[in-house]
Amino acid sequence: MRHSIAPTITEAIGVSHLYVPLMTAFRDAVSDAIAGDEAELEDTIPAAIRQVVRRHLGDRIRVVFDPELKVDAIAVGDTIRLKDTIRQNYADGAVHLRTAGVDVGDSPRMVHLIRATATLVIHELVHIQQHLRQAGREKMEYRSYLGTADEFEHQMRRAAEVGGGTPESVRLYNASPQEIPALAHEAALAFVDKHGLAEPRSRYQLAQLHANLHNLLTAELYSEFNKPSNTAEYAVFKRFGRLLYQEVIRFIERAATQKD
Ligand SMILES: [Zn+2]
Repeated sequence: MRHSIAPTITEAIGVSHLYVPLMTAFRDAVSDAIAGDEAELEDTIPAAIRQVVRRHLGDRIRVVFDPELKVDAIAVGDTIRLKDTIRQNYADGAVHLRTAGVDVGDSPRMVHLIRATATLVIHELVHIQQHLRQAGREKMEYRSYLGTADEFEHQMRRAAEVGGGTPESVRLYNASPQEIPALAHEAALAFVDKHGLAEPRSRYQLAQLHANLHNLLTAELYSEFNKPSNTAEYAVFKRFGRLLYQEVIRFIERAATQKD
């Protein structure tokens, strides 16, 4: 059954609500760093990330900063490994802002970094939850809905050889049971930013968005992503769209119940 889409893992994960706490903690840490001692600048961001993860997810998940890591972030078991340059980017950004006397909250560069890092951490948290759900199994199953096991393995080997993704390896990898939910979370967060949902919204505004959500997301999906050209691609597209929809709904409902 080449195009079976039976899920191998529970897909609806729901960690996007950590987006705002993560961004707030990063922003506070950078503000403190700018105001504080230059020597402490580099350590404030990792400390903030660890603190937020511990507060919301407990001690089971560890965040490790690994200077040797070649990718931006990766989930290994119950550990998130983040590339050291994230820390360096923040430190550079903070130095830049301190020199310029700019408020962190007003700096597009820092806002971009804060969003990118929070999104990266959430992507990896989705994988960590997948690992935790699969704990006890022999090993994680890696495959793609868009190719056979052999094709997938071959493409992953090719990608490793060239030291990065090829267009085909990325296409297959992004259509894996692990990546679809993680990428749907990323898209949900982009939607949250685009519609200002991370900022306080009135109940009325949230209800309005809720009512229009299906149309908004459908338009977004068709403008942002490759149009499906066969049955297997359509199945991936639908699965991705469903997870994206669920995740944004969850975000909106949470925002609505946190009012007053
Ligand atoms: Zn991933």
